[in-house]
Amino acid sequence: MSDSQIEKRIVILGGGTAGWITASAMIHSWADKGIDITLVESPVIGTVGVGEGSTPRLKLFFDSIGVHESEWMPRCNATFKNGISFANWSTRPGFDRYFHPFSSQVDQHTKTAFYFNTYARRLGIDVHAHPDRFFLAAKLAENRQGPRPNENFPFIVEYGYHFDANLVGDFLKERAKDLGVKHIEAKIVDVEQSSDGKITGLLSDSGQTIEADFFVDCSGFQGTLIQKALGVPFRSFAENLFNDSAVVLPTEPQDHIGSQTVSTALKNGWVWEIPLTHRTGNGYVYSSSFCSSDDAEIELRTHLGLLNNDVEARHLKMKVGRVEKHWHKNCLAVGLSQGFIEPLEATALNLVCNTVSDFIETVEAEGFEAGGRDTFNERANERFETIRDYIVAHYILNSREDTDYWKQNGQNTNVSETLRQILHIWKAGKSLSQEMERLEIRSSYTAMSWYCLLAGYGFYPAIRPAPTSPSATEKFDMDEIDEFIRRCALNFQSQNDALRFE
Ligand SMILES: Cc1cc2nc3c(=O)[nH]c(=O)nc-3n(C[C@H](O)[C@H](O)[C@H](O)COP(=O)(O)OP(=O)(O)OC[C@H]3O[C@@H](n4cnc5c(N)ncnc54)[C@H](O)[C@@H]3O)c2cc1C
Repeated sequence: MSDSQIEKRIVILGGGTAGWITASAMIHSWADKGIDITLVESPVIGTVGVGEGSTPRLKLFFDSIGVHESEWMPRCNATFKNGISFANWSTRPGFDRYFHPFSSQVDQHTKTAFYFNTYARRLGIDVHAHPDRFFLAAKLAENRQGPRPNENFPFIVEYGYHFDANLVGDFLKERAKDLGVKHIEAKIVDVEQSSDGKITGLLSDSGQTIEADFFVDCSGFQGTLIQKALGVPFRSFAENLFNDSAVVLPTEPQDHIGSQTVSTALKNGWVWEIPLTHRTGNGYVYSSSFCSSDDAEIELRTHLGLLNNDVEARHLKMKVGRVEKHWHKNCLAVGLSQGFIEPLEATALNLVCNTVSDFIETVEAEGFEAGGRDTFNERANERFETIRDYIVAHYILNSREDTDYWKQNGQNTNVSETLRQILHIWKAGKSLSQEMERLEIRSSYTAMSWYCLLAGYGFYPAIRPAPTSPSATEKFDMDEIDEFIRRCALNFQSQNDALRFE
């Protein structure tokens, strides 16, 4: 990229996690290009203040800006995360709970057995086909161990984090300002545009106009620039995903801190349990069409044993869907302003990091104005839709019958063609990994994640009375797999020890 291709002044509107991740990535990539980066935020409006779980993508982000875990994790009360446990989503016997692991190289040694067993089980053969015993991450989570092995362990293990979202924002703010990002505290009340619709400046409530060549909208759900000023339409996912509300309550920290998010299905949604060092975060994500906010709070309090406790709950609304274009004219939307998929797989910061890194790469390769913008928007939309499909699959595959909420979710026919194809491949007893590749089915999730989800919910036909052939009995020795994983797990510390960063 030549210097002349770079817009010289960039203004980011919004100082939530999305704003500070964007500012950090841009200053890291473009500090030496003479670009002036300013972030404007209103302390009066504040941030959404939730978002405590990540995928392994957040580790890549911190690595890319040169920040070590020992620097940011203690400051943000962060813990390590091996994956997510889903409890009470399925009523199929033996499948009331399963774990969605972050992957590791160890999986190469157990995956074949798992895939084979799901294949046999789909033929109705009685083999062990629940995912948990096949994955190291599930064992680490069960043992409350962190995911960083001792230095002799030869395999790479992927992992995510739990953290206090406000403290991550503060940490990144301090660092980005030290690196040269300018910071203005002001409430933006109007947006100035040129005759061709481009944004030229943001007008603050004190009468100041903040001008720039390029703007990044990190203003949260309201999408002040991309949606309100530029009028980019918002495509709701409400017909696919019913949840639009959440109620949040903290509880005491765990003595032996867990290393997984637990997602437990309740009557009209699900509740997250996220272990941080100073507290445990809990939030009930539900649909307001099926449950009032008062009832949701009572159900959450009952679930947590806090019915007679006066800790205050926070209620939030969620706008689920995406904008049609994430980059329009001279404006890029990042974070909640570009869209949101409910937090079941903690994917929002993943989308933030991918949007920003893809934007930086596109601009460096093709500049700001070129057709790179269209393909950028296609990629961003694909990320949103393929994550949505994976989340929808959780609801389609639930087998609860206790409330209308679960029944209507299970019967929901608003399913994308991609998800239909994946379910069809599974039911036809074919190899998901091979068929997804052959049919060029693009997904944000690997075949392994799909196998875990489909097998984890026990989405199998009934077991046939007797094996149909000698090879149809257990081909893989589960005791050997258990022993292999047990021995691997000896290379990992407890979460509590892993969090001592001396
Ligand atoms: C219930 C819930 C649970 C979630 N859980 C997860 C999770 O587990 N994992 C995950 O990755 N994500 C999660 N998320 C999403 C996550 O919270 C967000 O993606 C993340 O916090 C980024 O938010 P943001 O920065 O886009 O918006 P916000 O945090 O809302 O920040 C918006 C910023 O814009 C500023 N602003 C807005 N308007 C103006 C104006 N007119 N003038 C000046 N400043 C303005 C505000 O002051 C603020 O600084 C969750 C979200 C919800 C609702």
